[in-house]
Amino acid sequence: MATKHTARGWWQEEAEPGPGVPPLEGELAADVVVVGGGYTGMWAAWFLTELEPEAGVVLLEAERCGAGPSGRNGGFVNAMWFGLPALRRRFGDAAALRLTRASQDAVEGIGRWCEEQRVDAWYRGGGYLQVSTAAAHDDSWRAVADACAELGVAAACRALSEAEVRARCDSPIFRAGAFYPAAATIQPARLALGLRARLVQRGATIFEGSRVRRLDAARQGVEVRTDRGCVRAAAAVLATGPALAGHRPLRRRLTVTSSHMVVTEPVPDLVAELGWTGGECITDSRAMIHYFRTTPDGRIAFGWGGGRVAPGARLNGRVELDRSVVAEVERHLVRFFPALTGRRIEHAWGGPIDVSPTHLPVVGSIDRDRVHYAFGYTGNGVGPSRVAGRILASLALDCRDEVTRLPIVEPPPVRVPPEPLRYAGGAIIRAALLRRERLEEEGRRPDPLTRAISGLPERIGIHIGR
Ligand SMILES: Cc1cc2nc3c(=O)[nH]c(=O)nc-3n(C[C@H](O)[C@H](O)[C@H](O)COP(=O)(O)OP(=O)(O)OC[C@H]3O[C@@H](n4cnc5c(N)ncnc54)[C@H](O)[C@@H]3O)c2cc1C
Repeated sequence: MATKHTARGWWQEEAEPGPGVPPLEGELAADVVVVGGGYTGMWAAWFLTELEPEAGVVLLEAERCGAGPSGRNGGFVNAMWFGLPALRRRFGDAAALRLTRASQDAVEGIGRWCEEQRVDAWYRGGGYLQVSTAAAHDDSWRAVADACAELGVAAACRALSEAEVRARCDSPIFRAGAFYPAAATIQPARLALGLRARLVQRGATIFEGSRVRRLDAARQGVEVRTDRGCVRAAAAVLATGPALAGHRPLRRRLTVTSSHMVVTEPVPDLVAELGWTGGECITDSRAMIHYFRTTPDGRIAFGWGGGRVAPGARLNGRVELDRSVVAEVERHLVRFFPALTGRRIEHAWGGPIDVSPTHLPVVGSIDRDRVHYAFGYTGNGVGPSRVAGRILASLALDCRDEVTRLPIVEPPPVRVPPEPLRYAGGAIIRAALLRRERLEEEGRRPDPLTRAISGLPERIGIHIGR
């Protein structure tokens, strides 16, 4: 049977979403209107109902809740420990620690939430394993492990020898690595659908098939319009993910790239042979990262963050369905796990990634503090979106507290170049990174031009890679 290739992917089909919720028709008043039914919007709505049970919360989703990256990602629930050195440089030790601890609480919080709410999202706290697949990447976790040790949290990142890595997953290309215990895996679409169901039970009003076409903010409040309706509210949460690259005030704050995944048929025999039974989610140490995990029925889900850059805020086309990139992902999968040769790849898909120039999520407010947004997870949004959702709930209720003082709230803005420079530059840098990392994996030294171009973003203060 040929590989199925769709935009929304295997998780969505496995989760069997059932019928959607009807769209907004007519006019409605609310306390807070949330735009976007991914994790950010739904966690924001969830925390709004916790902080202010009487508040009227309306959520408008253009398609179906979880139809975007939230329902089709790799299902890695990570904290932000691997960003600790960058966070220290940017915000200082104390603020960096507060944020990484909040991100770790979010990982554990998602597990607790699934248990309390009886949402079977396959949550499994197996930790995160970062491996090296090239001499040039050996020890690339050193700065993280040192920062954790210096700040008294050495257990958050532990360096492993090649033998220790291979004992967890015996791929022939793995070298040494590092283990981060604060990480889990989930079935992403099941988490999104579970959030939607529990929100409805809690009394939040959700409309699907309700794309917001216009948002107006005034001193008295906000008004958002869809094709057939309108919601007036005291505040709005803008949680449209990569689509925020098309929102004028935020246009210069993020870039959209793409990531693509495949999932195999069940191969429990092979997973057992690899000794990969601890449920670890694994990545290599490239900027164009490979990420992979297992499922309860013994499949391997394998993704690559090496997809194309999107022009402007274009979120479909090759961002979702890219045959040549998927063919490459399939080749990479077999290089990591040669025993998969001849086993079937069941499904392939892809989606947009909202990349912030610092690789850190950003939460903030615009339009006289009536409209609150979050973006820029840069491929690590499953865990951090719960932190952002909690912050957005406070901001929308006009409440300043411990979470609104986290350093990802209104950090000094870093801008990306305007279009079409951004797209053209992004494509050139992507090509140089692909070349550099291929050469490094072949044990060769990249030429000076490749090194210069692939290192350009770092030199101008834009961060590439973890
Ligand atoms: C292939 C892939 C693999 C990934 N793997 C991982 C991983 O393993 N771990 C991890 O942490 N992160 C991963 N990510 C990133 C992660 O999925 C995102 O960071 C996270 O889902 C962001 O959630 P969000 O709610 O901010 O955005 P989204 O999930 O994009 O949700 C935004 C929602 O807004 C809706 N919307 C857009 N415009 C409008 C409008 N005008 N009106 C109404 N609604 C609108 C969209 O339809 C969408 O449902 C991956 C992403 C992809 C694409």
